[in-house]
Amino acid sequence: MALKYKRILLKLSGEALMGKSNDGYEPLDISIIAQYAKDVKELVAAGAEVAIVIGGGNIYRGMNEAETGIERAHGDYMGMLATVINAMALQAGFEKAGVYTRLQSAIKMEQIAEPYIRRKAIRHLEKGRVVIFGAGTGNPYFTTDTAGSLRAIEIKADVILKGTRVDGIYTADPEKDPTATKYETISFAECIQKNLKVMDMTAFTLCMENKLPIIVFDMNKTGNLLKVVKGEQVGTLVS
Ligand code: UDP
Repeated sequence: MALKYKRILLKLSGEALMGKSNDGYEPLDISIIAQYAKDVKELVAAGAEVAIVIGGGNIYRGMNEAETGIERAHGDYMGMLATVINAMALQAGFEKAGVYTRLQSAIKMEQIAEPYIRRKAIRHLEKGRVVIFGAGTGNPYFTTDTAGSLRAIEIKADVILKGTRVDGIYTADPEKDPTATKYETISFAECIQKNLKVMDMTAFTLCMENKLPIIVFDMNKTGNLLKVVKGEQVGTLVS
């Protein structure tokens, strides 16, 4: 089975892990992680090398100092710790499904994660292990989208896959505008010109400058991930 992309960086948002409980929302829905594990397992079996950056928005975002009274940089570190909780949850779910993983953290936490070491991450990938990157970039004032772009470039990934709840990039917000249509492919320049928000600017610019293609697709549809990596028309390709 031929794969279009051999080494991939999958960016998952923290919010994607959220589930509904009887009294509202719960931060981590184990069944979603189990589905992701199944999809990633298929991918590894097909010969892909998979690295993952996970967000933390389901637990904490540091960005609203005005609301919380918590200094931005301080809150951002809290947000980065939130991503490590998600990364550990992913790791547990993946290992349960028989997927070998290594967790690397951009903030040192030696009891639970390896420190981020680029060459070691690449070695893990070559050995067929899924590498989960926690703690974002390790720096405040960034997002996990930027961490995804940065790590993807560092490990020389062929593509960054942004798994979301929508199935691609639209001309307008499909939830607000019923006439919105989906792009199958779009250029970096056109995204900027049309002010389409694929990722935050820092993350997007990193991809553009390093000619790293981005695919936005619906991660919650099981089997989609493998289709994307095989090069089937799923989601939107930005290149
Ligand atoms: N964060 C940070 N530096 C990074 C990555 C993340 O300071 O390199 C903080 C930031 O406060 C952010 C939070 O961690 O709000 C959670 O990450 P993000 O909002 O990107 O998660 P997602 O939206 O993907 O769930």
